[in-house]
Amino acid sequence: MLPFAARYNESMSTATTAAGPPEHNITGIDFGQRGHLRYAGPPLLDIHSHVTLTGPGDSAHPAGSLAQAETMLDVATEFHVGRIYTMCPPEHIAPLRERFGARLGFNGSILKHRLDSPDDEAYQLLDHFLAAGIEIVKFWAAPRGRDRGLFVDAPWRVEAAQRAIAAGVRVFMVHVGDPDAWFRTVYADRAKFGTKADQYTGLIRLLTTFPEVNWIGAHMGGDVEHPDYLEALLERFPHLCFDTSATKWQVREVSSRTDAIRSLMCRYPNRFLFGTDLVTRPGLPREHYISRYWCQRTLWESHWTGRSPIADPDFLAEAGGPTTPPLHGIDLPAEVLELVYHGNAERLLAGR
Ligand SMILES: [Zn+2]
Repeated sequence: MLPFAARYNESMSTATTAAGPPEHNITGIDFGQRGHLRYAGPPLLDIHSHVTLTGPGDSAHPAGSLAQAETMLDVATEFHVGRIYTMCPPEHIAPLRERFGARLGFNGSILKHRLDSPDDEAYQLLDHFLAAGIEIVKFWAAPRGRDRGLFVDAPWRVEAAQRAIAAGVRVFMVHVGDPDAWFRTVYADRAKFGTKADQYTGLIRLLTTFPEVNWIGAHMGGDVEHPDYLEALLERFPHLCFDTSATKWQVREVSSRTDAIRSLMCRYPNRFLFGTDLVTRPGLPREHYISRYWCQRTLWESHWTGRSPIADPDFLAEAGGPTTPPLHGIDLPAEVLELVYHGNAERLLAGR
C-alpha cells in the first residue's frame, strides 16, 4: 500500500475471521435476494466513500491498481448507485477520473499527520485538492485523532475552511463523535478523548462561524444513538445535514430505535444523505461491497427483518444467541427515500 494512502485510512480494524464465515456474510445470507428493494427513482448518490487506487501497482499503474475500484463501482451499478463521492489522496484523483469520469466526485480530507506538523502541510494539501477539482472538504475529527491535534475547529482548519470557501467550495463534511459503545471501551480515558458531548463543541463553533455553506455530519452526525440530540442540531443549524454511512453502526443502532429514526427522517426529509463509507482495499471480495449496499438499501427502503449478515464487534451478543445484531428496515416513504438517495445530495452539490 502507498504510504500516503496508508496514512489516509480512517477506519478502525476490519473484523476478519481466519476460518469460518467471512465478515461480510456471517449468517450465510443469499445477497441475491433483492425483491424487497423496491426503490425505482433516480440513481442513488453515495456521498461518503473511500474509492482509491490500491497497492501494489503494476507497470501500467505504478501508483496502484484500479481493480478494487472497478469492482466496487460495478457493484454500485447493480444497486442502482450512480455517482459516488470519494475521499482519496490527491494524487489518486487524476487516474480515477480518467477511468471513471463523471461517476466519481471528490472530497478532500484536510489533516496534518503529526501534532508538530506546520500548518502549511494542511494548506498545501488543500491546494493540491483544489487544483484537482474537489467539490467537498472533509474535516476528520474522531476522538482517536485528538493526540494528533485533529480537532474539528483547530485554527488551521478554520483557516483552511476560509481558503476553501474563497476558492468556491460550498460543502463541508465533518466526522465528529463515534459509537456510544466506543466511549465505554476504547475511549474510556475521558482525559485523553473527552466525553461524547465534548466532541460537539468544536462542530457547533464551526457551524456558527460558517453559516453560508452546507455541512454534512458523517455517520448520522456521529450520534445515531441520540435522535433527540440530532434533532436539536437540525433545528438550530439549517445548513447541517447528516449522511447515513458506516453500515455496521447504522444497522445496529437504527434497528434498535426504528420509530425514532424513521420519525426524524420523515420530519426532516431534506436533511439526510445516503452514504456507505465503503473503502477499497487490496484483496476484498466482490461480496464485501455487495454486503454494504445490500444492508444500506434494506435498512432504509424495506421492512425486512432478520439478523445483520455483517460481523459487528460492537454488538453484545447473548450467550448462545445470534452473533450479529438485528436488522430492522424502516421502510421510508417513497418521497423521503428519493430525497435521501438522490435529491438532497444534488441540491447541496449545486450549492443550494
Ligand atoms: Zn469515511
